[in-house]
Amino acid sequence: MFYTTLPMPSLTPELLDNFPYSQYADPQSIQRGRAYFKDGRAWNVEIINDRKAICFVDGETGEYEVTIEVGKKSGALSLDCNCPYAEAHFCKHMIAAALAVSEYLKEEMFPWKIMMPLLFHLLHLPPAATGKANSRKLSPLHRANQRPI
Ligand SMILES: [Zn+2]
Repeated sequence: MFYTTLPMPSLTPELLDNFPYSQYADPQSIQRGRAYFKDGRAWNVEIINDRKAICFVDGETGEYEVTIEVGKKSGALSLDCNCPYAEAHFCKHMIAAALAVSEYLKEEMFPWKIMMPLLFHLLHLPPAATGKANSRKLSPLHRANQRPI
């Protein structure tokens, strides 16, 4: 058995969504990066490990490779692209890739977000009642008890 006791930094949709892009990229690059993502130009996400992902983005003059990585110790997000503009700037390909990787990770995690609470719910039920639990619906009475916050 192997247990990790220290929380390891990993690449999450939250980390990608909360990154301060506007501090590094100019508004035009952000706008164009978002348009690239919507047009499906960031088309191939490869998860290398829990801290690193690669995404290919179709640019105007060729296909570029964006690497997104989380620092092992720092937990800081770093993005890199092999286009010429990225040598001195935060490019639109990085924006498009960050959006694509975030969406990819959300889809990956989606089944677990539903399965885990359901699993715990089922484990606490007596075996004879599990069959009924699936068809149980919220009655109007239960709904009335849920007060709006
Ligand atoms: Zn680029």
